[in-house]
Amino acid sequence: MNRRKFLKLLSTGALAYSAQGFFAFNANAAIADNNSYSFLKGAPKYTIADSHFHYVDFIQRTEGAEALLKAMNANGVEHIMMSGMPLVKKWDKDDPIAPEYYLDNNSRTYWYSGTDYHVAQTVEKIPDEERHRFHPYICGFNPTDKYAVDHVKRMYEAFPNLWHGVGEIFAHRDDLTNLTYGETARANHEALDAVYDFAADHDLPVCLHNNCTSRNKLKDPIYVYEVEDVLKRHPNTRLTWAHAGLSRYLNVDQGKYTAKLGAMLDKHPSLWIDLSWIAYNDYITDGGSTFTVKPCWLDLIKSFPDKFMIGSDTVGQFKGYAMEIRKYYSLLDALPSDVALKVAKGNFLSILPQRVQKDLAKRKN
Ligand SMILES: [Zn+2]
Ligand SMILES: [Zn+2]
Repeated sequence: MNRRKFLKLLSTGALAYSAQGFFAFNANAAIADNNSYSFLKGAPKYTIADSHFHYVDFIQRTEGAEALLKAMNANGVEHIMMSGMPLVKKWDKDDPIAPEYYLDNNSRTYWYSGTDYHVAQTVEKIPDEERHRFHPYICGFNPTDKYAVDHVKRMYEAFPNLWHGVGEIFAHRDDLTNLTYGETARANHEALDAVYDFAADHDLPVCLHNNCTSRNKLKDPIYVYEVEDVLKRHPNTRLTWAHAGLSRYLNVDQGKYTAKLGAMLDKHPSLWIDLSWIAYNDYITDGGSTFTVKPCWLDLIKSFPDKFMIGSDTVGQFKGYAMEIRKYYSLLDALPSDVALKVAKGNFLSILPQRVQKDLAKRKN
């Protein structure tokens, strides 16, 4: 093909570009915009606690609390975990296009404590009648810094009675780890020991992201032992393992992996698991348009009805919020109704500090 012919074909759209081509295909955006999902329409079917949420994105931007509340109300979300974003993406001087997501280019990310002030100041402004629905978590620290716990303490003291948890702590997290300055964060880094202890002493649950393995080691996951080590050494710290340890590129054998998770849940009463993000789309379900849950996952969740929770893992923008909440209807519909209620809401509320649970119980009466 000569140059002229190529340009002609290009202008008529006859040349098809692959998904890797000039115009990147965003699968999530395509799903969110797709009106063919009947569950996106109409009144919400379940009352939900969104157990995994980021008020801001990777450049610390947000659509704001009003838009969030609207999205929550439209999708039956009664309670929400309210985390900031512990890492921020840097805009390098030589990048002509400003990055918005951490994968947009090769510029680095760095730990950003300001995120916790942003969350705290937002939550403080939420009117009393809605505030009990928000459960703010402290996340803005470098989990490889042995001074990390000092930040947690400062936040806890600067905003008394405001915080309900710690996290999402970013430990092993594939590309994001590789783009972050400094030491590699890991679940059982000694800097986190003091954070886990502080959380246990102050009745705060911890949400931890730690991939179960690296993308090249799928057969025998290499990072699970780190989480097991934390569970063993910090039995009084309530730990939610975000995304069940799954992430991009981690298509491990789901039968074996769910068996491993079952053994861990059996052994460690302080472990909970959230099913959020692509873990649900890519591994827990068939990844198709119906989000059909794989039998091994369904069995696991039914076997430990008090241990699983769902979350949107939305970051700052709420356009796709309906999809990120209602996609779980396929799981909730497949569970016995009492278990569905727990997974939808009860299990998240059960890990919150006693003082928060008492307040919520008082409100009910
Ligand atoms: Zn995560
Ligand atoms: Zn997250």
